[in-house]
Amino acid sequence: MPSGATAVLIMAAGQGARFGGDIPKQYKQLAGRAPLQRAVDAFARHPGVAETLCVIDADAEALYRDLFQAGDALEFVVGGATRQASVRNGLEALARSPSPPERVLIHDAARPIVPGQIVDDLIRALDAVDAAAPALSLTDTVSHSDGHRFGDEVDRSSLVRRQTPQAFRFAKILEAHRAHEDVEVTDDIALARLAGLATAMTEGSQLLHKLTTPEDQQLLEAMLARRMTASVGNGFDVHAFGPGDGLTLCGVHISHDRALVGHSDADVAMHALTDAMLGAVGAGDIGQLYPPSDDRWKGADSTIFLAGALSRVHMAGATLESVDVTIICEAPKVGPHRDAMRARLADLLGLAPDRVNVKATTTERLGFAGRGEGIAALATATVTRCA
Ligand code: MG
Repeated sequence: MPSGATAVLIMAAGQGARFGGDIPKQYKQLAGRAPLQRAVDAFARHPGVAETLCVIDADAEALYRDLFQAGDALEFVVGGATRQASVRNGLEALARSPSPPERVLIHDAARPIVPGQIVDDLIRALDAVDAAAPALSLTDTVSHSDGHRFGDEVDRSSLVRRQTPQAFRFAKILEAHRAHEDVEVTDDIALARLAGLATAMTEGSQLLHKLTTPEDQQLLEAMLARRMTASVGNGFDVHAFGPGDGLTLCGVHISHDRALVGHSDADVAMHALTDAMLGAVGAGDIGQLYPPSDDRWKGADSTIFLAGALSRVHMAGATLESVDVTIICEAPKVGPHRDAMRARLADLLGLAPDRVNVKATTTERLGFAGRGEGIAALATATVTRCA
């Protein structure tokens, strides 16, 4: 880690008893992506964060690997019997690294939305104090209760509720954890206060809402829907005709008096579409992922490339919404195969057929396509993702 760096510990070792179900809530899909993935993404996107380390339950290793299998290998630490013990394990792991961070943010995986402003404010707050956390004032009337009847009201004007991420000078919070392992606390600010560290409150956010009950799930899904953004990618490819007796377009074989020449199966339409999907999530292009110099792709079925692009879309936390492909040639006639191509692409991409369009045009006999020297294809892909 570079000196002066900020690391993040994401606490995902909880079992989430109140949420119910067979797997912990941080691993369950929430609007198409698990809360733990969303939290990891949020910090990965933040330019001020150098490293993110997840602390997980020993029994959840398979779940964790499933979640991140397609992504970059993400390191993890196994948690302890309590949240406090789990944080300690995470801090000790960071301390063992050759260059421990200067600051650490400790976050609960059950809070899937982390606005960038929250992280900015926390990092800035550490210029003046050793510990900082976002907090919100209370707006409801607060009172005691035995669960059935109300007791005395409590003056809420000096009460706040603390959220995560909470930020600390790394060496200070590590020392606090080591010194107070016998005291049980519910968050790390409490421990920082026990250790006498100076704290600061930053502005909290309703977006940091914690997934605790099934009702929270509905609330968070509504919040995520409002943060949805769309991106579009385009793709273009050309393959020349050569001797042969047919070709493949959008995964559908068409008999013809010639074939398309290429390193793979030369499905020019699927290559353009693969590039469009990669483009929509900023994942480069087909040539980078599947270099023609690599013999593995010699004669390859281009559905491999399309599946790879789809997994890149998912790795980016995005959902493929629609695709549109234009095939440019004088021959063969595409029209009779259009429905089969749409159905094939819809099947490969897991899209409804009305989200897939395939069309063809000529260039009025102009240029290489007009002279029948080859086929060109254009494609567009639209994806959405939650910020
Ligand atoms: Mg190609």
